[in-house]
Amino acid sequence: MPFNINTIIRPNIKNLKPYSSARDEFKGEASVYLDANENAFGSPLATNYNRYPDPLQFALKTKLSHIKGVPPRNIFLGNGSDEAIDILFRSFCNPGIDNVIIVPPTYGMYEVSANINDVQLKKVNLTLDYQLNLDGIAEAIDAYTKLIFICSPNNPTGNSINREDIETLLANFNGLVVVDEAYINYSRQKSFIQELTEYANLVVLQTLSKAWGLAGLRIGMAFASEEIIEVFNRVKPPYNINQASQQLALDALQNVSQINNWIKEILSERDKLVLALKSMAFVLDIYPSDANFILVKTTDANAIYNFLVAKGIIVRNRNKIELCEGCIRITVGTPQENESLLNTLRILVI
Ligand SMILES: *Cc1c(COP(=O)(O)O)cnc(C)c1O
Repeated sequence: MPFNINTIIRPNIKNLKPYSSARDEFKGEASVYLDANENAFGSPLATNYNRYPDPLQFALKTKLSHIKGVPPRNIFLGNGSDEAIDILFRSFCNPGIDNVIIVPPTYGMYEVSANINDVQLKKVNLTLDYQLNLDGIAEAIDAYTKLIFICSPNNPTGNSINREDIETLLANFNGLVVVDEAYINYSRQKSFIQELTEYANLVVLQTLSKAWGLAGLRIGMAFASEEIIEVFNRVKPPYNINQASQQLALDALQNVSQINNWIKEILSERDKLVLALKSMAFVLDIYPSDANFILVKTTDANAIYNFLVAKGIIVRNRNKIELCEGCIRITVGTPQENESLLNTLRILVI
């Protein structure tokens, strides 16, 4: 049966009449705007922010469209990817009825968002080599399964998920397959955003928070069919990306070469970090990473974590997470920061 969005959208969202803002009702150019109760005198700042921002962020989407090779109508921008994740639940999952599948160990927000929205979560653990258990996923899918979240490269494990496995899900699942590519800029794997025309049930999440160095602006991207993006746009708060973020992101996107240089440097720093860590006695394993962090299996994650905290260095303790026992997750920093981490670890005796 071909994918049909009408079979998975929540009835209340299907029938939703969205809020119509002043900027929705009049779109052209005018000389006097007295329609939105703004302060026409200005803002007490060097830059004026007295006008409401573009609800659909046309300038920013046009710029992103050139960089990503995806038309603006297939792009949704959220207040971080986290907003896109939440909107997926609110648009497609009936609380108390529907369910979603996640594949732990993975990004924590899918579970939090499911719990906030009172949507049942089915967990199908990754295999021991951190790949999809396709049989387990097939067994978990029922008539009420609306979303499957796949994070690739995966957080916290760092590896990419096999492309053919994701394609198998896309071809056989009648709900949405959400591929979270927050770390795609560091990966050797191809992005799924070129497959939107191939799969009507594909949603790709990316973000400006990681490689683009703009975590503080809170801009996440979802790429999907026009039908899906249209649903997102109806459900989102009217002005979800503020004017300062839209403008600053547009400026930042002029600097593609800076970002590409940083990506190369981070990858080379990652390799150096792996090499140095490998020789340390308490390091049992370092998992292959396609991201800007590494998952390191150690003899005593809690002791290492606490020791580093005492020295003012914070890593992520993943010891309590199933399939990550003994692991810490280390983000690749600047050469100085990485050196400082290594020098500190060299004096650790456990
Ligand atoms: C960091 C991260 C994000 C980014 O979230 P934002 O809300 O866009 O900052 C999304 N997904 C994963 C897997 C991440 O690790």
